[in-house]
Amino acid sequence: MHKAYTIRLEGVVQGVGFRPFVQRLADRFGVCGYVRNTLSGVHIHAETTAKTAEAFWKALFRELPPLARITHADRIPCPAQGLSGFTITESRRTGAQSCLISPDAGICPGCLKELFTSTDRRYLYPFINCTDCGPRFSIIQSLPYDRPNTTMKNFRMCPSCNAEYLDATDRRFHAQPNACPECGPQVELVAGHPAENALPAHILKRAGHRKSTEAVAQTIKLLQKGTIVAVKGIGGFHIACDAFNQTAVRRLRLLKHRPSKPFAVMVKDAAAARKLCRVSALEEKILTSPERPIVILQRKSGMAALEDLAPDNNCLGVMLCYAPLHYLLFSRELSSGKPLACLVMTSGNAADEPIETDNAAALKNLGGICGYFLVHDRDIYNRVDDSIVQVIDGRPVVLRRARGHAPLPFSFDKKLKQTLSCGAELKNTFCLTKGSCAFLSQYIGDLKTRGTYASFDQAVKRLATVFAVKPAVICHDLHPDYLSTRYALEQKAKDPSLKLRAIQHHEAHLAGVITEHRIRGKVIGVCFDGIGYGSDGHIWGGEFFFGDLKRFVRAGHLAYVAMPGGDKATQEPFRMAISYLHRTFGDGMYRLPIDFITAHRDRLEQITRLSRLHPILTSSAGRLFDAVSALAGICDIITYEAQAAIRLQMYAERSKTRAAYDFTFEYCGPAFTMQSNAAIRRIVTALERRVPKETIARKFHTGLAAACRSACEELRRRTRINTVCLSGGVFQNKLFLELTAARLRERKFTVYYNELLPTNDGAIALGQAALANAG
Ligand code: ZN
Ligand code: ZN
Ligand code: FE
Repeated sequence: MHKAYTIRLEGVVQGVGFRPFVQRLADRFGVCGYVRNTLSGVHIHAETTAKTAEAFWKALFRELPPLARITHADRIPCPAQGLSGFTITESRRTGAQSCLISPDAGICPGCLKELFTSTDRRYLYPFINCTDCGPRFSIIQSLPYDRPNTTMKNFRMCPSCNAEYLDATDRRFHAQPNACPECGPQVELVAGHPAENALPAHILKRAGHRKSTEAVAQTIKLLQKGTIVAVKGIGGFHIACDAFNQTAVRRLRLLKHRPSKPFAVMVKDAAAARKLCRVSALEEKILTSPERPIVILQRKSGMAALEDLAPDNNCLGVMLCYAPLHYLLFSRELSSGKPLACLVMTSGNAADEPIETDNAAALKNLGGICGYFLVHDRDIYNRVDDSIVQVIDGRPVVLRRARGHAPLPFSFDKKLKQTLSCGAELKNTFCLTKGSCAFLSQYIGDLKTRGTYASFDQAVKRLATVFAVKPAVICHDLHPDYLSTRYALEQKAKDPSLKLRAIQHHEAHLAGVITEHRIRGKVIGVCFDGIGYGSDGHIWGGEFFFGDLKRFVRAGHLAYVAMPGGDKATQEPFRMAISYLHRTFGDGMYRLPIDFITAHRDRLEQITRLSRLHPILTSSAGRLFDAVSALAGICDIITYEAQAAIRLQMYAERSKTRAAYDFTFEYCGPAFTMQSNAAIRRIVTALERRVPKETIARKFHTGLAAACRSACEELRRRTRINTVCLSGGVFQNKLFLELTAARLRERKFTVYYNELLPTNDGAIALGQAALANAG
């Protein structure tokens, strides 16, 4: 006896080969009916036995096409029509527009095979793609996701491409970016720097496939010679050079004003990654996933070349080729001599600016760095950086959420107000809410320059247009000076009907974890962060809370300490070391027989006076890491964010000691402060005794993790809450997160931290959105 069902699916189900997938499945199960696209997703009418219907339903989720994501599904019985066979029918424009956009995806195995098949019509074609792979978010200008709404609208499909596009049995059925050498985009090599000008310094008109291939071959030659070349990719430009050419790498550091921040590298495959780093099975899975992020891997020792790529670091950021063009750069087919093995592929931006996406702008802004530009004529509409992932505590943790992840939403169990959350300042992301979805933007960057601010403004407008969000509420950080705050105030000035909501930085961090893991009930929140504006006007960043999205109580914090010179103390960690020493030893500091005091003798007086005259107080854990790093003689002044803390972590990872420094607690009323005087004293004693830096760094990490556990146990005694959320930038420190989580689990706490979004300020916007919609 046949029954009939209506199956409605929402999520990323269009332009990802979903209907042919349903067709194949239905044929296999002998299900009759049809499938069609709607505005809100996909609609299936299925007629079969109850038992088969159940198996078909399960298989739908189990065997999803690579890029499909289902956010909502339901199945309701309906009258049978006595249909025979299964068909794909025409789209019907019904229902609310709620279809989601797929993130950009790395080339699939099918396309990769064709790319290097000499008889294929797309042999060596840098823009090969299909419904399983290729650009998506980066080229979409509006919904629905149809070719005229993407930057592919400039290219008219040739008859062969069009035939594939219309054939429901083809892998390129409704693949919007479908293209071939006859009809699609092409690459071009353009000389930048006048001194190296061998080619005309203008972009030629449509060059054709042969010239395109020559351009790639020419680029490989240049890279092999040590030239720095800008390469236009999926979501923006990269700056590339041969990673094993020391001169080129050092020159790039000089030109990019980047003396020591690690460079990410690109290699062809997992085997090549294993030559540089240790790669676990999970790490290999992440490397080769369609998201193709930069994966932070443990460096192999004894490779001198890696030292220039990631100075003083135990790790290296590695990604695999993801665009077909990348594979061509590494190919034997287009290389004369030995193919390239490893390329530096760093973001194509000038210091602190957003990555370049436009050919002309890239030529203008990167001309001082890159000798040549490998450009193409498929426009990038939405700028998306490479995502960064690291396996921490045995799980993949996203450290930068961009290409391959954005703009997938976080879904809520309830209907949300239409809001815009502007995020924080560093590593900015913003968040739009609508329906039951929170659309967290891709990584925007540090909102410090006019360029990043413009990029933020543009991305807000574009994402709001694509998802048709008209915010009634705008959330911003409590910090009055953040550009994101200023943006919120400007919107309010333009439209007084908008509601503004200021949200404390660390409460937003904590809300980000609660939202990601859909935690119900109250939690204990540990927020160890760089800096965030506190409700009491001090600079917070070592906070303990309890509560839920409706209300958080600040139950304790790291004891306040002066932050001499305010923001300058972040750039110059020695200031924090002096501050901590003075807090611990008073004027006894001047007589301490340690190298740090000798080295900074001239500054001691001035720095302590500064703290007295302009007292800026902080409870930041990040600044405590900085202080210890400077004190131990590891890092005095930083050239990139969190460098002192990162280097301290690197030393700690090399030590095996299980001993730890002590932190103590002081109670005043219901709140406690965590005191570091005892730990600072012991560090000074260790320095006097010339204990290795590795040991000091390790004992500090272990001690602080144990102190977090003690604080949580105290809070559990008081509140009976057993769930702990760890958040804030300090928990990007793999060692510290793992130590803390392990100690908490030993005492039977349930521990959560951000995994799908970064634990740094990239999570703030989602937390703000959740708090604005709480209650
Ligand atoms: Zn493909
Ligand atoms: Zn074509
Ligand atoms: Fe923060």
